[in-house]
Amino acid sequence: MIIVLRPDVTQDQVDHILDEITKLDLRPHVSTGEERTIIGVIGEEDVIRTLPVEAYPGVENVIPILKPFKLVGREFKPANSVVKVGDVRIGGDAFTVAAGPCAVESREMTLRIAETVHGLGAKVLRGGAFKPRTSPYSFQGLGEEGLKYLAEARERTGMPVVTELMDPRHVPLFDEYADMVQIGARNMANFTLLKEAGKMQKPVLLKRGMMSTVKEFLLSAEYVCSEGNMNVVLCERGIRTFETETRNTLDISAVPVIKQLSHLPVFVDPSHAAGRDDIIESLSLAAVAAGADGIIVEVHPEPEHAKSDGAQALVPEQFAEMMHKMRAVAQAVGRKV
Ligand code: PEP
Ligand code: MN
Repeated sequence: MIIVLRPDVTQDQVDHILDEITKLDLRPHVSTGEERTIIGVIGEEDVIRTLPVEAYPGVENVIPILKPFKLVGREFKPANSVVKVGDVRIGGDAFTVAAGPCAVESREMTLRIAETVHGLGAKVLRGGAFKPRTSPYSFQGLGEEGLKYLAEARERTGMPVVTELMDPRHVPLFDEYADMVQIGARNMANFTLLKEAGKMQKPVLLKRGMMSTVKEFLLSAEYVCSEGNMNVVLCERGIRTFETETRNTLDISAVPVIKQLSHLPVFVDPSHAAGRDDIIESLSLAAVAAGADGIIVEVHPEPEHAKSDGAQALVPEQFAEMMHKMRAVAQAVGRKV
């Protein structure tokens, strides 16, 4: 439910309403706009219905939120959200490129690729230190050591780093080293992990599960936001279909659809959608044109020797060429890479 307050509402009246809401174990979210202050009320719907909201002094009107997702929905917040990652602002006019290796493999490689992608216009460094691999015998990532190399790359380049959290026991490590916490496709419906990410003070990059609908995806984001962390970027990374030419099928429609339904910024991951390097440029250009707020893309100095996802990694030359073309498309649609 959204409570719209009168323009002349007093602080005492606001405090009274907030008291009444919290007494029932419901959670209020106050947003102060230029003309109006509104209070979003989140919690069990049967309990919300018992609030005699219209009777409270200072209330102008009450709007029920009809969609299953509340905090992430446009009904709750009509204006686009901007999510800050370090000094980088995701959303708004900017089109943000996050780039780097699938996995942090060594200190030298991480520092080298960080400097390369930074020089070519990437604003955020990606790299997994804990990797969700299909086989337990595949490279699982360098763990804490990998996080330290990412932090060192941030010191050198100034780029904030995004890296995947798979285990709630690693939260203190991520608090220390990461700038943005990635929740991977395989964990999109790991509700315990989502709640832990929601309690963190770091922005979250939430990837769409490969078998999840947009509604399920937005409800997962709702888990993070309902714990108090509204700094969520949603990432379309391809879904499973009958098609076998690509690793997944990039659901490009998800970009404008999610933009209609939610105020949160939307990213596209062309790498995990394609699974092959030769079409990543096309998918990235499509992402810019479709209204995405950025991409997260895998770049590796020597893909043939990559410890994971080599087939879909761009070499720096391909990345440079792609950045060049993305700038042109971005300009055509009023965005800035
Ligand atoms: C990744 O970004 O490295 C990754 C594993 O992505 P996803 O969770 O989308 O498969
Ligand atoms: Mn990968």
